[in-house]
Amino acid sequence: MVERVRVLVIGGGAVGCSCLYHLTQLGWTDAVLLEQNELTSGSTWHAAGNCPTFATSWGLLKLQQYSAALYRRLSAEPDYPINYHVTGSVRLAHTAERMNEYRHVSGLAHANGLPYEILTPVELRQRHPFVELDDLEGALWDPYDGDIDPAQLTQALAAGARKRGARVQRFTKVTGLAQRPNGEWHVTTDKGDYLAEVVINAAGYRAGEVMSLLGRTLPIVTLSHQYLVTEDIPEFVERAQRVPLLRDPDVSYYLRQERSGLILGPYEHQATPMWLDGIPEDFAHKLWDDALDRLETYIEAACKRVPVLASAGIKRVVNGPIPYSPDGLPYVGPAHGLANFFQCNTFSFGIAQAGGAGKALAEWVVNGGPEWDLWSIDPRRFTGYATRTYTVAKAVETYQQEYAPSFPDEERPAARPLRTSPLHYELEHRGARFGVRGGWERALWYDPTGDSQQTLTFRRDRGWMAHVAAEVHAVRNAVGLMDLPGFSKFLITGPGAEAYLDGLVCSRLPKPQRISLAYVLNTAGGIVSEFTLTRLGPQQFYAVSAAIAEHHDDDVLRRSLPADGSVQIEGLSERFGTLVLAGPRSREVLSRVTRADLSNGAFPWLSAQTIEIGSAAVWALRVNYVGELGWELHAPVEYMPGIHRALLEAGAQHDLRHFGLYAMDSLRIDKGYRGWKSDLESGYSPLESSLERFVDFTKRDFVGKDALLAQKSRGVARRLVPLTLDEAGDADPPYCSSVFSGENRVGLVTSGVWSHTLDRAVVLAYVESTFAIEGNQLQVDVLGQRRPATVGREPLFDRENLRPRS
Ligand SMILES: Cc1cc2nc3c(=O)[nH]c(=O)nc-3n(C[C@H](O)[C@H](O)[C@H](O)COP(=O)(O)OP(=O)(O)OC[C@H]3O[C@@H](n4cnc5c(N)ncnc54)[C@H](O)[C@@H]3O)c2cc1C
Repeated sequence: MVERVRVLVIGGGAVGCSCLYHLTQLGWTDAVLLEQNELTSGSTWHAAGNCPTFATSWGLLKLQQYSAALYRRLSAEPDYPINYHVTGSVRLAHTAERMNEYRHVSGLAHANGLPYEILTPVELRQRHPFVELDDLEGALWDPYDGDIDPAQLTQALAAGARKRGARVQRFTKVTGLAQRPNGEWHVTTDKGDYLAEVVINAAGYRAGEVMSLLGRTLPIVTLSHQYLVTEDIPEFVERAQRVPLLRDPDVSYYLRQERSGLILGPYEHQATPMWLDGIPEDFAHKLWDDALDRLETYIEAACKRVPVLASAGIKRVVNGPIPYSPDGLPYVGPAHGLANFFQCNTFSFGIAQAGGAGKALAEWVVNGGPEWDLWSIDPRRFTGYATRTYTVAKAVETYQQEYAPSFPDEERPAARPLRTSPLHYELEHRGARFGVRGGWERALWYDPTGDSQQTLTFRRDRGWMAHVAAEVHAVRNAVGLMDLPGFSKFLITGPGAEAYLDGLVCSRLPKPQRISLAYVLNTAGGIVSEFTLTRLGPQQFYAVSAAIAEHHDDDVLRRSLPADGSVQIEGLSERFGTLVLAGPRSREVLSRVTRADLSNGAFPWLSAQTIEIGSAAVWALRVNYVGELGWELHAPVEYMPGIHRALLEAGAQHDLRHFGLYAMDSLRIDKGYRGWKSDLESGYSPLESSLERFVDFTKRDFVGKDALLAQKSRGVARRLVPLTLDEAGDADPPYCSSVFSGENRVGLVTSGVWSHTLDRAVVLAYVESTFAIEGNQLQVDVLGQRRPATVGREPLFDRENLRPRS
């Protein structure tokens, strides 16, 4: 017999049970959770249960903050007692840079109502009386940190879901998955079959096995992760109050009270990947033998830091499986290309994140998206390049640096280069220093002298400033050339293409041979996708978006395709490359390699043509992201070296210079050009993003129209504006720095860089509308210091926008 159910969750760990709990909270009570063993028998039962709210990303901070609040609520309910100790935590800092990180995260926390505190060493001692202070710069205090019993938490979530009608089916293993033509999921188990509208993969470290039932791979690897538990410590036995959780990230361990002893857990500098040839079927509720030798250096360091630890013997060691993705973040959201199939797995902090992740996943299922933009944990951030070898290499690297400071601009070396432009080695020869976007190597900056070193710091001068300044100068005053491999590119054709796109985007479609920006919104009016849309023919559109958006935007485009086959979508992301030629002399350079008429009359701004460069046919788009006269040149990758060579030769007498992403970032902010998932995200509408000119309210309908109209009529509460900082200082405002008016927090920075054109720090920030007035004097928090800033009017540079049209 086949049982019908609306939603089926695979996996009964903390995360699966939280999904079930939150689905029922949103009214989806026709829900079943299948667990192949006992609840918690994967990674959950043995987790240390630490629940930090600390995160360097806005979305994760919110998610963990929600978890902590939920756990406080649940543990106060008499029905399901949970041991949850909110002890607060101290994070130690051995360096000034670590303190900078804490100042930044503290700002993020304050903006979310979390009263983090920066502590001096003396204040640290007052919070944690057993810590030695030598060589410490200070610490960060998180009052809501603590530890929870993971099994009790899981049971409480399952019980809460059951109470509202959901079912939990233990000892039922999912063995097959198939989607029927009507979209329903046929789920085979060892105890019978189900038909489900929606399936959620919450199978923990076995989530990859579940995907293999569909013939798919998931970038996931299991690592061995350990902690040890000590015997009682006399000083703790005598104390009524628990000591706060202590993290010493610069050494890479945590230390927290467990009964009257301590738990010591490191993120080892030498990670140990496991099960590379598959997970043993019978591994459930099990641990590996301990590997105490791997812990010695951390024990030694921790005993020096908290000497009472040295007096206690080791009671037991836990060595258990922890799943890791390449960037160490989980997968929460839709699986690419699979309707009504969601991932909620690969958690390395699954106890701290279960609450918020379950909420977000339930919102994906029920509402079509979560309350907070959670792109950083969207499963579609990785595409096919994330092979097994890549995943292991990156996961090992991430684990080993789990506690490292999250420096801006850090580009880690493992598994590189992987996806490269055909120009990669030539550019490297010319001094390119690369970073990775969507798996693609892209030049960040050029070091023509070969003797500059990039430094990791929160301060402005990271070793490349002078070179980037020269690149910006070249683009503003002569001509610059940039290789941009890996843009997401889609060719949308067919008799229904115009009508389909018109219903999808909120913007007016371009006329043939013209280019415009087009936005896809969600029903709440938030920005989902941004495309540069070029109309190559009456029913032929070329949509280009961020490199990392490939699977995300592919889903956005395909999920609303008409069923009648009148529209076809072809992905060109890997087949086409892009060169950007920009600057006042770009016309002179381009005209030397093409016979096309490049005059303003024949080839105006925001128009597109097929031109020939040498013998290669190129789609030339008169548009760029730096605000200058210029062209984006798109062509199949095999033509790129020839096109590049031709442009270099033609540019030699015009001081043509290569430029990289850092220069582009400085240039684009002068012009107020927004970045997807930094300045634009689903939490902001185009009205808030000051992009109203790209919304065509005269259209009969588009997704999000009602919400935008409602927002318009009640008034837009905040707006994206540029601000210039009045004093140079030695650091630029990091992402999510707060904007103040006096003591009031009135805004949030989404991009902050040094403008080499305006010779000052410039930010884009969402500011409460009453303050978003040109000339207003505000302050921006930069690593704990308030710096005076002035609201500008965009664009800050070339106000009449004459240069791109010149
Ligand atoms: C030593 C150690 C300490 C840790 N400490 C912490 C900590 O302090 N704080 C923190 O936040 N995190 C910690 N973690 C990580 C944490 O344990 C995990 O992130 C979390 O338990 C993941 O929960 P989950 O529900 O996603 O997965 P799991 O708990 O692994 O649950 C997945 C479930 O799916 C079931 N399943 C799998 N395949 C199938 C199938 N085909 N059919 C049916 N059921 C299936 C499994 O049996 C399992 O019960 C620690 C991990 C380790 C190893």
